[in-house]
Amino acid sequence: MRGTLMYAPGDVRVVDREMPTIVEPTDAILKVTAACVCGSDLWPYRGFDQLTQPRPMGHEYVGVVHEVGSAVTTVKPGDFVIGSFYASDNTCEICRAGYQTHCVQAQYAAATGSQSEYVRIALADGTLVATPGLPDPELIPSLLTASDVFGTGWFGAIAAEVAPGKTVAVVGDGAVGLLAVLAAKQQGAERIIAMSRHADRQALAREFGATDIVTERGEEGAAAIKELTNGLGAHSTIEAVGTDEAMAQAIAATRHGGHVGFVGLSHDVNISGMTMFRTGIHLHGGPAPVRRFLPELIDMIWTKQVDPGKVFDLTLPLEQAAEAYAAMDTRRAIKVLLQP
Ligand SMILES: [Zn+2]
Repeated sequence: MRGTLMYAPGDVRVVDREMPTIVEPTDAILKVTAACVCGSDLWPYRGFDQLTQPRPMGHEYVGVVHEVGSAVTTVKPGDFVIGSFYASDNTCEICRAGYQTHCVQAQYAAATGSQSEYVRIALADGTLVATPGLPDPELIPSLLTASDVFGTGWFGAIAAEVAPGKTVAVVGDGAVGLLAVLAAKQQGAERIIAMSRHADRQALAREFGATDIVTERGEEGAAAIKELTNGLGAHSTIEAVGTDEAMAQAIAATRHGGHVGFVGLSHDVNISGMTMFRTGIHLHGGPAPVRRFLPELIDMIWTKQVDPGKVFDLTLPLEQAAEAYAAMDTRRAIKVLLQP
């Protein structure tokens, strides 16, 4: 089968790879219908992570079950399924509390990489959710976002305690930030302020429900949000970048006693104890427990209440995975869908 490997920073190739096979009785093999490139795939691409050997790439996926291990009972060959980027048993105390990414058995779900014709998924019963049937092709991009970026934006809004009547600010205009706007809208926010300086992303944010756009960053961005909120700041802010600057901006944009939901993959973020003490802000976040939200997100997409698949502004055949990485690296594309 064909699959994507990263050999070195900037060096992504689609090569002949071994067909994945069942290793644990709890595994499933999927024939991948669609995969995509994640912002987090760009960290090794840009040389921030060490690569000691060629790395199978991709952790977002939708596909058809090809084979299941002997212990798998909830999905069967032929089912169309979606799963989180983290595998979970969905039965331990942590999972039952809704924190499947922190499951006692948590592991990378797409063990063999999903930017590939086939992928092995760990802990299939706890990780995968079948759709009500085979989806219309037009639903596939949106279903794919539920695997990570929509689920992550959704959790950002939950963690920031978005609710009807509240004003929400979103830091970050990548796929997760844009889908955090959509999530805030669905969760009833009255006013949604997207922070973005790119016209195409501002337009999509507005389509997803943003009522205001702030183009300034840092202290100026936070000041602009205070100006829009009677000097107080947002009730809820979603941080969808992961840098120290973005977290500082999120905290500064939030009113004292308000909530910050942080879902950007954290890189060198430092928060002072005095800032927390002085502002009384609630902070919650981390890797999104996408599995908790999958049934709800699939239902919203299946019944066409939302169209999060609009974040894909480029679709390429799997064979052109290298071009997909380059397009995202240079920000020519928000998010690229790959078709095996
Ligand atoms: Zn668990």
